[in-house]
Amino acid sequence: MKTSFILSAAESIRDAILDHESELESLDRAIGDGDHYINMKRGAGAIVELHAELAALSADAALNKIGLKLLSTIGGASGPLLASFFMSMAKILKEKNDDTITTYAAAFTAGVEAVQQRGKAGLGEKTMLDVLIPVAQQFSALAASNADIKTTCQALMQTAEEGMLATKALIATKGRAASLGERAIGHIDPGAKSCQLMINAVCNQVLA
Ligand code: ADP
Ligand code: MG
Ligand code: MG
Repeated sequence: MKTSFILSAAESIRDAILDHESELESLDRAIGDGDHYINMKRGAGAIVELHAELAALSADAALNKIGLKLLSTIGGASGPLLASFFMSMAKILKEKNDDTITTYAAAFTAGVEAVQQRGKAGLGEKTMLDVLIPVAQQFSALAASNADIKTTCQALMQTAEEGMLATKALIATKGRAASLGERAIGHIDPGAKSCQLMINAVCNQVLA
């Protein structure tokens, strides 16, 4: 992975977050404390501002630094979770040190496993993991079947969207929405929405 790709993907992610201000804000206002948009905007903005520093690093070191920055800039549950994701992804990229879809899938999967461990959550709990887990599973399956990058990206965007939409029908068992019981039904989880936006932004960057 090239560091230049990470830098342009970070800008696409920041733009996608800014473009969805009202949606992200109203989702977290409905079933959380209303700050998810602000948290994501602050985190994405801080990464884009790191541009010059990141540009001097290898891709894995840049992802690790991104994780550390998210940890210190995003308040709230999503900060440490996303930090764990990027730092674990960085670790695998460093270990494998090659540019294959298999390595990217392994790195993404390690990131998702780190989120699961840190958040002590799994599939079906109405969190970002309802996007991340199915995407990781599909990413690994597509890599194993030697799918090309275009097919892979299109499939992952589709799966992310389905996972995000599926959170609408769920009761939350983790995070702030867990206290709402059935009142959370009918609302998409904000973290699932922002993860879907990030996956979409990165995939579109690959396809561009
Ligand atoms: P906070 O809830 O602290 O205000 P944010 O609003 O930034 O933090 O993030 C909320 C999102 O974090 C939720 O929508 C959910 O997707 C995610 N989240 C919360 N707790 C967990 C957890 N234990 N595991 C995975 N994701 C979680
Ligand atoms: Mg919140
Ligand atoms: Mg909060």
